Amino acid sequence: MQKLVIASNNPGKLREFQRMLAPLGIEVLTQSQLGIAEAEEPHCTFVENALAKARHVSSASGLPALADDSGICVAALHGAPGVLSARFAGEPKSDARNNEKLLQAMHGIADRRAHYYCVLVLVQQADDPQPLIAEGEWHGEIAHEERGDGGFGYDPLFWLPALGKMSAELSHDEKAQLSHRAQALKVLLQRLQPA
Ligand code: IMP
Repeated sequence: MQKLVIASNNPGKLREFQRMLAPLGIEVLTQSQLGIAEAEEPHCTFVENALAKARHVSSASGLPALADDSGICVAALHGAPGVLSARFAGEPKSDARNNEKLLQAMHGIADRRAHYYCVLVLVQQADDPQPLIAEGEWHGEIAHEERGDGGFGYDPLFWLPALGKMSAELSHDEKAQLSHRAQALKVLLQRLQPA
């Protein structure tokens, strides 16, 4: 596989994928470079949404497509924002308003446990009967206020107790080692290139 289209228009995710895939010599194209519209994400599970995105982009491009569906799941909020993470505070999508809404929802709650979840789906073609699927989880806590200017999305609120840092305070390399997306990609690549 020489060329791969990333089925996402999220600039934060695209930067992370391009960094992580560059050393493998895979040419990474993006959905917007090819003028492909965003897919609907109507499902209540991450994996169904990722599969829908991957199929949509592979069908429109005629190339293998890699889709990520990811989000943050907060224990005290019964897994919310979950699949609605990107639009937690409604349309248009806004990281700033999402973070503000999450802080409000967590007001007065002592149990701050949360995890990022990522599922990756790789299809060779739109009707691929055996999509490759890999998952990753990254556990932390929801902080009481935002800090750090790296990453994207909920990173300024995602506290990593073992590191004593927010995920928005990690370097690109640190996040690319630890994140839910990095973990899922590691599994996916192992399955692509069996030893
Ligand atoms: P998706 O594009 O529908 O998969 O939405 C993913 C959403 O989950 C993003 O817009 C962010 O709000 C959140 N998210 C996923 N991964 C991360 C991350 O690594 N850092 C911060 N927020 C993330």
